[in-house]
Amino acid sequence: MNDLYPKRGARDPDIMQLEIGRYKRAHIPPGPPPKQDPRERVLNFDEVFLGYDETQAIVEAMRCIHCPSPEPCILGCPVHNDIPTALLLIEQGNFVEASMVFRATHNMPEVCGRICPQEILCEGSCTVAGYDRAVNIGKLEAYCTDWQRTHEGFPTYQLASPTGRHVAIVGSGPAGMSAAEELMRDGHTVVVYEEWPKPGGLNVYGIPGFKLSKQILAEKAAWLETYGVKFICNTRIGKDISIQRLLDEYDAVFLGIGAPIGNKARIPGENLKGVYQATEFLVRANLPLADLPQRIRSRPEIAKHMAVIGGGDTSMDCVRSSVRLQKQSGMTDGVVTDYYRRTENEMPGRAEERMHAKQEGVHFEFLVAPVQFIGDENGHVRELELQRMELGAPDASGRRSPQPVEGSNFRVPADVIVLALGYSPDPTIGDSLPALEKGWKGLFKVETEFTGATNIPGLYAGGDDVRGADLVVTAVASGRHAARAMDAYLRALETPFKRDTGESAPTLA
Ligand SMILES: Cc1cc2nc3c(=O)[nH]c(=O)nc-3n(C[C@H](O)[C@H](O)[C@H](O)COP(=O)(O)OP(=O)(O)OC[C@H]3O[C@@H](n4cnc5c(N)ncnc54)[C@H](O)[C@@H]3O)c2cc1C
Repeated sequence: MNDLYPKRGARDPDIMQLEIGRYKRAHIPPGPPPKQDPRERVLNFDEVFLGYDETQAIVEAMRCIHCPSPEPCILGCPVHNDIPTALLLIEQGNFVEASMVFRATHNMPEVCGRICPQEILCEGSCTVAGYDRAVNIGKLEAYCTDWQRTHEGFPTYQLASPTGRHVAIVGSGPAGMSAAEELMRDGHTVVVYEEWPKPGGLNVYGIPGFKLSKQILAEKAAWLETYGVKFICNTRIGKDISIQRLLDEYDAVFLGIGAPIGNKARIPGENLKGVYQATEFLVRANLPLADLPQRIRSRPEIAKHMAVIGGGDTSMDCVRSSVRLQKQSGMTDGVVTDYYRRTENEMPGRAEERMHAKQEGVHFEFLVAPVQFIGDENGHVRELELQRMELGAPDASGRRSPQPVEGSNFRVPADVIVLALGYSPDPTIGDSLPALEKGWKGLFKVETEFTGATNIPGLYAGGDDVRGADLVVTAVASGRHAARAMDAYLRALETPFKRDTGESAPTLA
């Protein structure tokens, strides 16, 4: 890990030279950023956090006690952001410099500042958390990078001399977009193929606007385009263009296709009308209809009794979207319930998101598992049958496994049911390239996550299609790692250029 550890930037390592010593810093009270009131925010899909103002950001940054190296927060960050240096720069009012410290190791700090599970990463490692609330690192990261973006725009980069090499990126999520940015800076010509109508991956087509404004991703993609990165949307590799064709026509290819297939409940009634997979429900609830493919260009159903099954971040996004849909439709007696098979202690999603959901009026029913969905004569779901669970011995995940309680079945009304049961990889590309080595559940096998190299020369992969459904920050990290390895591969290539510089992308089949 140490060889990846970034050099300190503007920060003087000697805390004694700081104007305010550790003792005083440790006694500055925490300043959580203001949020929209729950009664107001359920009426819109805007971000819940309103963000710090300048004074609040400076004071919060002063709470960093500047631990001796190696700083736990840097070690706790999957991309090893030099957090203490950035916080010192914020404290001094140097917001652009602070932003550039985050950007030195991260391609989407304004995204991760908002939605990283900081409580188990940087903030979970923060020494201050030992006696008070951890320094609000995520919100400070969002503050300074937003400041730069809104006052000066994304940074101006000096690109490396053009190499004449062409790279295709499949998927424009955080893994693909980060790899694209790095490879563009290295002087390669980059084309990104994306199945959805707009770039951004789950940051746009998944995570709701009340956690992350979609405007940020739109600006990021537009900025990459000004540097020559080309996005070809509405194009599914493996269907519209074969992966083999990309391998034939580009000098290297990166697969950042995520793990997009929602897991099924595998119980009777799953195909009834009113039963949705989480991603379809979220995108239809959250996005402008014009940004959706024609086949799903309408809002999801809104009903008095809406049920979500699952316990992770996705389920919280679904219940909170459901509440907003009900309120926006003028419904005053709507009930949204999350059903989870373990207890709240075992829930994998962020505690902050659960707290927000509770504030917004979501009900929770723990230790229950669905048994069947029951429909009416028109084939529309009307009831949900559940069975009570109790916790048994720990399973492979280390969490106590839910065990059914015999004879405990019961039914509840449910006119809309959303399944948020986790995600699996899409086998389309892997199946069309039998030589490509796959691992568990069809995830792409790579040499190591620090190169992302598959067993096929010139073909790299990273993000959720290698790790399984995970986090934005780990996808960014793997996109960056793969870009480093791809740059080295491309520079060592002695084969003739596969395409002339400036040539447009392949025409669709
Ligand atoms: C609802 C939801 C909420 C989440 N909340 C959080 C959160 O709060 N914090 C957090 O850190 N993480 C969160 N995550 C997880 C996070 O979004 C993912 O781990 C991350 O986006 C993975 O990045 P990726 O680039 O690997 O894949 P993705 O973001 O999934 O991007 C893959 C892209 O590839 C495209 N694609 C797929 N196949 C093809 C093909 N054949 N041809 C062309 N394009 C293709 C897809 O359309 C997609 O745009 C959440 C996930 C979901 C579903």
